[in-house]
Amino acid sequence: MRIIIKSHAQIITRIIKLSSMKSILFCLVFFLMVLIAPNKSLLAQTGPSPEDFFGFVPGSDRNMFDYDQLIAYCRQLDQASPRMLLKEAGESPMGKKIYILFISSPQNLEKLDRYKEINRKLALDWKMEDTARDALIAEGKVFLLATLSMHSNEVGPTQSAPQIAYTLANTQDPEMLKCLDNVVFMVVPNHNPDGMQMVVENYRKYKSTPYEGCSLPGVYNKYVGHDNNRDFVTLTQQDTKVISGIYSKEWFPQVMVEKHQMGSSGVRYFVPPMHDPIAQNIDEGIWNWSWVFGSAMAKDMTAAGCSGVAQHYLFDDYWPGSTATAEWKNMIGLLTEAASANTATPIYIEKNELKVGGKGLAEYKKSINMPLPWDGGWWRLSDIVRYEIQSTWSLLRTASANREEIMRFRNHMCRNEVLKGKTLAPAYFVVPALQHDRSELVALVNLLLEQGVSVSQLKVDIMWNDKMLHTGDIIIPLAQPFRAFIKEVMEAQTFPARHYTPGGELIEPYDITSWSLPLHKGLLAYEIPAVVEDIENQLEPVPVPYALMKEFPNHENGYWVFSSSGNESYKAAFKSVSLGLAVNRIHANINVKGKILPAGSFIVSGAKGQKVSVLKDFLTIAPEWFRENPDSTATAVQMPRIVLVESWFHNMDAGWTRYLFDQYDIPYSVLRPGDLAKKTFELNCDIIIFTDEDKNVLMEGKTKVGEESFPANLPPEFTKGMGKDGFQKILKFIKNGGTILSWGNSCALFQGLMSIKLTETESEDFRFPFTNDSEKLRKSGLNCPGSLLKVKLFPDHQLTWGMKPEAGILTTAEQVFQTSQPSFDIDRRVIASYPEDHILLSGYCQKEELLSNYAAMVWFRKGKGNLVVYGFSPQFRGSTPGTYKLLFNGLLLK
Ligand SMILES: [Zn+2]
Repeated sequence: MRIIIKSHAQIITRIIKLSSMKSILFCLVFFLMVLIAPNKSLLAQTGPSPEDFFGFVPGSDRNMFDYDQLIAYCRQLDQASPRMLLKEAGESPMGKKIYILFISSPQNLEKLDRYKEINRKLALDWKMEDTARDALIAEGKVFLLATLSMHSNEVGPTQSAPQIAYTLANTQDPEMLKCLDNVVFMVVPNHNPDGMQMVVENYRKYKSTPYEGCSLPGVYNKYVGHDNNRDFVTLTQQDTKVISGIYSKEWFPQVMVEKHQMGSSGVRYFVPPMHDPIAQNIDEGIWNWSWVFGSAMAKDMTAAGCSGVAQHYLFDDYWPGSTATAEWKNMIGLLTEAASANTATPIYIEKNELKVGGKGLAEYKKSINMPLPWDGGWWRLSDIVRYEIQSTWSLLRTASANREEIMRFRNHMCRNEVLKGKTLAPAYFVVPALQHDRSELVALVNLLLEQGVSVSQLKVDIMWNDKMLHTGDIIIPLAQPFRAFIKEVMEAQTFPARHYTPGGELIEPYDITSWSLPLHKGLLAYEIPAVVEDIENQLEPVPVPYALMKEFPNHENGYWVFSSSGNESYKAAFKSVSLGLAVNRIHANINVKGKILPAGSFIVSGAKGQKVSVLKDFLTIAPEWFRENPDSTATAVQMPRIVLVESWFHNMDAGWTRYLFDQYDIPYSVLRPGDLAKKTFELNCDIIIFTDEDKNVLMEGKTKVGEESFPANLPPEFTKGMGKDGFQKILKFIKNGGTILSWGNSCALFQGLMSIKLTETESEDFRFPFTNDSEKLRKSGLNCPGSLLKVKLFPDHQLTWGMKPEAGILTTAEQVFQTSQPSFDIDRRVIASYPEDHILLSGYCQKEELLSNYAAMVWFRKGKGNLVVYGFSPQFRGSTPGTYKLLFNGLLLK
């Protein structure tokens, strides 16, 4: 919506300004038309109907609009309806604009800035007098934010948005009008524009072929695919930052819902509350409100003819992966999940195929969590759209009916969290300024600021309980509105173990169990339990953005040294190589005029003019500068030619690797497993990377469960594995001096008997001397769903340069290595191994002692080549900077 309704006086003024008679005549006619035309806001029909605009009814079989069409429609409604306002919120990783469509009464939209201010005050001002608060509550509106279809193959929520918006633009229903008066509905019509465009184009491409409805080959966005909902703590992706900014820093909606789809053969629609386990740091009030909204949805949707609605089922809520971080920031955070069709193609579900399994429902039967089961039959996109529409009406009604209470609750939460911060432990998290990797300290502070957290630093040195706190130490007081979030991401995680019956089966976690930012970044941090007056008096806010660059050594000659202890130093080195600068690497700790330069540090020389500013632009820590070369024995760093193997099977871990490489200016090319099988294909590189991917996918292009193979939901050109011939190329590559880095499930490629074909009749047989004992340990009771575990690192090895003697790895312990004696031209070193005890750093690990002394990372030499196997993803979801160097060093392995 651009202009609400211009007053007639304004129109006359504009007419008078026009000079020619012709124009005046034209305008007089127009003026008369305006006078006799009904006021725009009273028009029965505002804007084109979705059917008129798209040429089909959204949700109808085998039809979908794409992202550009969606936004074009929103724009038309915005121009036509005073109840709509389309605002740009930011940009996606591939450059598409992300929008919020505000839907409310025209009067509310005119006062949007005022309401935004009220939201901010209720969310953040804990000192407000009761009378002032009551006045704001009386004046304000509930903001309900809905983010649609972040997972792009879950098309239904977005495909239902035009009909919802059109209905709200045109409704004369008194109850709906009342909702629009009480509520400002903020819809992000699509959370992941890049992925939506890809998925819709893929659907159109294969429509009317045997592969209609197939999955998108690859990931549905630039990097991370489905993992985009696991990025809301670390905020690595551009779209994640935009969405988080909407609720954490700009609009402060009181209620938020993210809308997804799930599998096809279970319940039809999930609504909150979530199932146990739930996050212990979140206030009970948030959980109680999730019952109110969820139960109202279940009731209203069922009454409107939607069967199969379930609540309190499957989806738990102890991890802050998704926009659920809103719950840690005092918003009533909700999730809905609709059963999927085959993208836009209908599916038929036989009754015997209907199954549930998981928390809250063990049988597909009438139960308290699903009082009206769906009977099976056809399931279409139009059904999903119908359910989404009913779910939305219910959400609006609940928000509207409880407007005053919800707004009061938001400010109550704000006050209450601050009070907890003042009275409960901990009172502060302290992150000392002196850290092994100070660039990660800078990254941590800037991330917390981006999350809407207030971060302070100490102005002076202070003694507290025999402990010296230093000037510049980072102090994060817990007495602030987002206390629950701060506590959650700063402490080590303890999984809230809950059982179905006393002493009975554990309620298993849905996802990983560790996200502690200091531990994942390898930073030291500690808690101070109670408020300390001396500290309170000596705090100042950190500068924004935060950096530790006091002065950049802006010399055109001489030598800059980037310490191997910092992740940022590797970026500086990779960037310098790409700029054509001389980069050399120190091989042992050296002492230059009292300064220790650790092994693996980079010496950069020859930077001038523009190249200096390129480096300066991203550095947050100043390098050391020397007039003379501090180490003439340092060896030249050249960028290896890197090939990253990425299957078409939605290989998110490969996507995260691409993301990390792009962040660190590491050039690479992507290879599909099937390419290796091509007879004419030759490897022309120095390093090959196999990320976490099923061996069967890599070898055969199939997934396997036990001995059973399953076809992929992809056209045949995307389901080729490397096959035996392709794998021969890999083995010969190692033998000839190449380096392989392999982690997670791809390590299985290198277990067992290897055989390099020398001639038609001869082959060289060998084994990399290691086994994966994970299965054995699992049978003995090891259960590690994704936790941060401690490893000891082999000192003075190229692979551990820049690391401390111990590190935390994020692992599911599916690759746990036992090495053995090598033979012939093979050697090995255990680079990382589990300690004897105290293995779990953060999260959940049952029978951790079973891992004692096992290897987590091993280097092998075979002939002139190298193989490094990692029993963990060193770049796990872009959230484990504490182990990035184990990967970077692998790239530079000589
Ligand atoms: Zn989803």
